[in-house]
Amino acid sequence: MRPRILVVEDEPALQQILAFNLTAAGFEVEQAFDGEEALDRLLARPPDLVLLDWMLPERSGLELCRRIRRDPALRDLPVVMLTARGEEADRVRGLEGGADDYVTKPFSMAELIARLRAVLRRTRPALAGGELRVGDLRLDSQTHRAFRGARELRLAPTEFRLLQFLMEHPGRVFSRSQLLERVWADGADLDPRAVDAAIRRLRRALGPPDPIRTVRAEGYALEPPAQT
Ligand code: CA
Repeated sequence: MRPRILVVEDEPALQQILAFNLTAAGFEVEQAFDGEEALDRLLARPPDLVLLDWMLPERSGLELCRRIRRDPALRDLPVVMLTARGEEADRVRGLEGGADDYVTKPFSMAELIARLRAVLRRTRPALAGGELRVGDLRLDSQTHRAFRGARELRLAPTEFRLLQFLMEHPGRVFSRSQLLERVWADGADLDPRAVDAAIRRLRRALGPPDPIRTVRAEGYALEPPAQT
């Protein structure tokens, strides 16, 4: 699976260079040219990572970053800020605003790509080609296989994506609508009961003890027992 990146930058020439190089580096690139367009795209279909320019018309990159961090559906999206400002104070403001990393213009494309990959490895290990481990669960997104202890799990594609998403955010509670948005490709139009049904199938495949916690009136969280 190619990591999907939303590039938010108002300069068409830089957008073009970024799109060319990031595509060549294995990313699926989406573009937004101002903060409003970016927010629309983020809410419609959150990417795996946002590359966000600080200087944007309408809504600054820093404002957009803060907006992302306040939104329950978006707040754990990895954000890398891009900026011409090199001053330490701005760097601190960017990180306080919730950016995961910060790249100062002018930058080398190799450095930018290395930083993006590092952020992805930290925040979305499965996308960076790594293996996810939570308790006695193990998931390899490259080979598309999942295990509980030594036992391989037989999972349909939806249950596999659901398990992967929950393993990327262990312990966090997600509502049905958040799971629909983040796990199902066209989730916004689906009945939230589809989530309950998929959780039921996933639980059946995982077997006891049940690693998924149901939080009444809120949703679900993955909290497997520690490996013994
Ligand atoms: Ca700009």
